[in-house]
Amino acid sequence: MTGLLRSWVESANSEATDFPLNNLPYGVFSIGDDVKRCGVAVGERVLDVAALERAGLIGSKDAPLYRDGGWNALMAAGPEVWARFRARLTDLLTDGSPDRDAVEPHLYPMTGTTLHMPFAVAEYTDFYSGRNHASNVGTMFRGAENALPLNWLHIPIGYNGRASSVVVSGTGIRRPWGQLKGPSDAMPRFAPCRRFDLELELGAIVGTASQGPITVAEADANIFGYVLLNDWSARDIQAWEYQPLGPFQAKATATTISPWIVTREALEPFRRATPDRESPLLEYLQETEPYLYDIDLSVGLAPDGGQETMMARTNYDKMYYSAAQQLAHHTTSGCPMNTGDLLGSGTISGTERHQRGSLLELSWGGKEPVTLDGGETRTFLEDGDTLTLRGAAKGDGYTIGFGDCAGTILPALVDPYAR
Ligand code: MN
Repeated sequence: MTGLLRSWVESANSEATDFPLNNLPYGVFSIGDDVKRCGVAVGERVLDVAALERAGLIGSKDAPLYRDGGWNALMAAGPEVWARFRARLTDLLTDGSPDRDAVEPHLYPMTGTTLHMPFAVAEYTDFYSGRNHASNVGTMFRGAENALPLNWLHIPIGYNGRASSVVVSGTGIRRPWGQLKGPSDAMPRFAPCRRFDLELELGAIVGTASQGPITVAEADANIFGYVLLNDWSARDIQAWEYQPLGPFQAKATATTISPWIVTREALEPFRRATPDRESPLLEYLQETEPYLYDIDLSVGLAPDGGQETMMARTNYDKMYYSAAQQLAHHTTSGCPMNTGDLLGSGTISGTERHQRGSLLELSWGGKEPVTLDGGETRTFLEDGDTLTLRGAAKGDGYTIGFGDCAGTILPALVDPYAR
């Protein structure tokens, strides 16, 4: 395994940084009222790539890829351009680079920047590919006997979500209203959600568009990179609405992503195989290479004004289906996939209680409250709670981090139909 790549940006060489030269994740930033532009995280700095392009240090001035406030243009340019861009960035920032003096004026302290959506989400699909999550939820809803649906071991189950409500880390999340009906209620009522929840997921971003069915290997090659993803979920709305077509308004309020796209190339040294199959997969879903990644994940909850409790820790290598398998399956019908499509992995839970990636599982449907470090308890999220997802792939002397994926719960409106 490659060790730390040394940079002349000193903070990028620290073992503590999430953004060594090995990472170079892509985001969109602004300073003050200035325009949004593409930037790359390196140590405690952000490199203004749009300015590098204007200065002729990267890409082509005639075909700008980094100016429009998002990474979609580079994503659409294909794997050869991705690799060339990344190699050039690495050269510019490597310790001893002759270009240091030209590049240095375009670095800004990360603390003074505002981070924005790193790309325009074309469409969003959410999967349900965590074996332990599916078993836990199935056990709660249908009993242990029928925990896994019959199709689960054969299909990466998913639903088409909403691109319009995908937001970047730091965006406030308003508690939704919706139709609620408990098992003993005669009629549904319209009220604020009382069982608002998180889902710890990884999001895969499609770079190269496709038409018609593609293989798992082709799907993997089409993936540009990954972000952390919190699929906010209104469990009480979901319980009443989800049959027979799956979740709808329960998942439509918001989906938060982390601000930096970690490229597939940066994650190469961390590839892991999917687990042994309990039932053989159809040929089109079989993997010949390892397409999961060893990424440590955690969920922190901080009550309003209080300290953060680390509620769960797990790893992306616990998934049953990889993003490549999900993307390949997505195309089997002939469904075209576009640059900027976002695929949620499904909630990532391990087998142990402290590895569960949702409060639904951590509190076992609200029956076993979670005690926070400050002594408070939670079954579901309360107003003012800040949820932070973190992810890190640990290399030999360096860490590939994603940046925080955070959101604070804002109280429900008093009357959502007030005009
Ligand atoms: Mn989900």
